[in-house]
Amino acid sequence: MKILVCGGAGFIGSAFIRNYLKNNSDSKIINLDSLTIGSNLANLRDIENNSNYKFIKEDIKNESTIDDLIKHVDVIVNFAAESHVDRSIANPKPFLQTNVIGTYSILEAIRKHDKQFIHVSTDEIYGDAQGKTSFDENSQINPSNPYAATKAAADNLVASYYRTYGINSITTRCTNNFGEYQFPEKLIPKTIIRSIKNLKVPLYGDGMQIRSWIYVNDHVQAIEDLIKKGKAGQVYNITAYEEITNKTIVKKILNILGKSNDMIEYVGDRPGHDKRYSIDCKKIENQIGWKPKHEFDDALKQTVDWYVKNPSWWDPLINENTLHPQPWTIS
Ligand code: NAD
Repeated sequence: MKILVCGGAGFIGSAFIRNYLKNNSDSKIINLDSLTIGSNLANLRDIENNSNYKFIKEDIKNESTIDDLIKHVDVIVNFAAESHVDRSIANPKPFLQTNVIGTYSILEAIRKHDKQFIHVSTDEIYGDAQGKTSFDENSQINPSNPYAATKAAADNLVASYYRTYGINSITTRCTNNFGEYQFPEKLIPKTIIRSIKNLKVPLYGDGMQIRSWIYVNDHVQAIEDLIKKGKAGQVYNITAYEEITNKTIVKKILNILGKSNDMIEYVGDRPGHDKRYSIDCKKIENQIGWKPKHEFDDALKQTVDWYVKNPSWWDPLINENTLHPQPWTIS
């Protein structure tokens, strides 16, 4: 199997590449990434000399390169995205360009060359689940911030290409990921790094926002299972059903690191902040046979330990945005 992974230098894409090559040593992966914010080739140091792996620095919006590359592979998995909600609030335009136009560029190549396409989306497209039961794949799309709106637009585009041109596409909608190699701007690594540095840990609003969490290796295993067993034209939710408030997560991290809860600093809430995300993933469990393998507390402890042991990975990535409590105020 030959796979073109777009956005493979990011957090989840690099986990997918490491995991896929470990499980399928006879497969070949081309990793195409434009190396924007959130990317880090150091995530792939362990496999950079593997003869079945090749990196290409390129933008998914470059239609002719995508078209050329697609001819030589069986599957495209697209992780490439502008992915940080706070940055989308500060400046939505790059989100429209990559998340919508970039997806369009891949779809155009897919429809010409008839390859399998895995479109990696997010539970954020369903919007706020406060007061509701969990969303399934047929629930209404109702995004609250520019990031989620651009991902929702891409989901609709993929669905329209399946309906209109009969492309071989699968859309995945996963909950919040955590694990090793996550960029320091996101909640869990930011909390770990600031705690290690004895800096106050910012919490938006009252910290009672509820998110579902999944260990990244469970997410990428679900994508591998869908490449092998997923059905074209379908959407699959992916979650580990771990609904936890941001405040509880931060307290758990402080506890693992032996720090006091007094390190928490409440800061102004994110504009349009959804109170709760919640999805149901019975479809992938029942139809594909995938289930998450990692317990939240064990995987969180493992993640914290990894950041403690690997400051050489995160220290070069630390900047004002990691240390600033409200990144959307940064232009
Ligand atoms: P990330 O920001 O760590 O990685 C994104 C990668 O895409 C980076 O390496 C970046 O350089 C690359 N990229 C951005 N624009 C590009 C372009 N125009 N051309 C080529 N490469 C480009 O993000 P992540 O957390 O790994 O998320 C990956 C995907 O998973 C995204 O589509 C995101 O929407 C989705 N997702 C993320 C989460 C999560 O919790 N992180 C949850 C559900 C879904």
